[in-house]
Amino acid sequence: MSEKPKVAFYWCAACGGCDEAVVDLAEGILDVVAAVDIVLWPVAMDFKKADIEARPDKSILVSFINGSIRSSEQVEWVRLLRKKSQLVISFGTCAGGGGIPALANEFSREEILKYVYETCPSNVNESKVRPGPTPVAHNGDGSALTLPELHEQVRSLDQVVAVDYYLPGCPPTPKIIAAAVGALLSGKMPPPGTVLSPDKALCDECRRKDSKPADLSLAEFKRPHQMHIDPEKCLLAQGLLCMGGSTRSGCEALCPEGNMPCTGCFGPTSRVRDKGAKVVSAILSNIAADEPEAIDKILDTFPDPVGTLYRYGFSKAMLRRKQDD
Ligand code: SF4
Ligand code: SF4
Repeated sequence: MSEKPKVAFYWCAACGGCDEAVVDLAEGILDVVAAVDIVLWPVAMDFKKADIEARPDKSILVSFINGSIRSSEQVEWVRLLRKKSQLVISFGTCAGGGGIPALANEFSREEILKYVYETCPSNVNESKVRPGPTPVAHNGDGSALTLPELHEQVRSLDQVVAVDYYLPGCPPTPKIIAAAVGALLSGKMPPPGTVLSPDKALCDECRRKDSKPADLSLAEFKRPHQMHIDPEKCLLAQGLLCMGGSTRSGCEALCPEGNMPCTGCFGPTSRVRDKGAKVVSAILSNIAADEPEAIDKILDTFPDPVGTLYRYGFSKAMLRRKQDD
């Protein structure tokens, strides 16, 4: 009997939602477990780093890696998995573009550490101790136990190791995970580098699309809690910042179906180089004012510009990241 293919799951700077999404395959996970041997899944099973180090190179068919990269430990792990795997799949939008953790790139590392360990009002840390790579204790064999180093920036997975495929979403939906696993096991994968979700805008699969006006006239940006939302009409036409026009489809418009605007978690389509710039360009050409003062007044209602425009992909934004002097 031939051996089953080996599969690894790993998480870096992540919330756990991507691992939860694997469990959300429900009874489908039984088919996955029957078809493969899981050799690493820290959130669910007790494997050690030494187990992976002992494996021959390329002996794992595929590693699914979620979360963005900020620490020395995460860099070590993803390099190890890259070496031991034939394929690496970037799983979820944190791995793909930095995700929510990458919004930390708005601040320098020093600003973050200073606030968290010194000036945050809820902290008591008179000696201003900060965690770091200095040895904090000793292992049983006498070797030093150190904490990982926090790197200057939050990076996407492909800014650290080569990635073969991308599964988008925050988290990816069970449907696109199951489709990717099916394609892998049948050997029918698309060309390397492919994002495993349709390369068309979410508006195309949204049932509200017929009420999306060709020419918008944006006089104010509203947040969902500030209004009664019409459950049938395009959300953008109602003044909510719905990102469906620049976001890749594949989620079946779950958020608009739930009466919430799309926040862009499936990332951009291949035609969009910088998601934030694309949305700004679309908005500015649809503002219902001509005079600078009136335009500014409308733009003042735009909620949390960086957090809205770059919520999932700040590691890959064309904007420069903030660095320590
Ligand atoms: S992509 Fe979303 S669900 Fe996955 S780790 Fe990041 S924040 Fe969590
Ligand atoms: S509600 Fe959003 S996703 Fe749906 S058609 Fe309007 S802009 Fe597009």
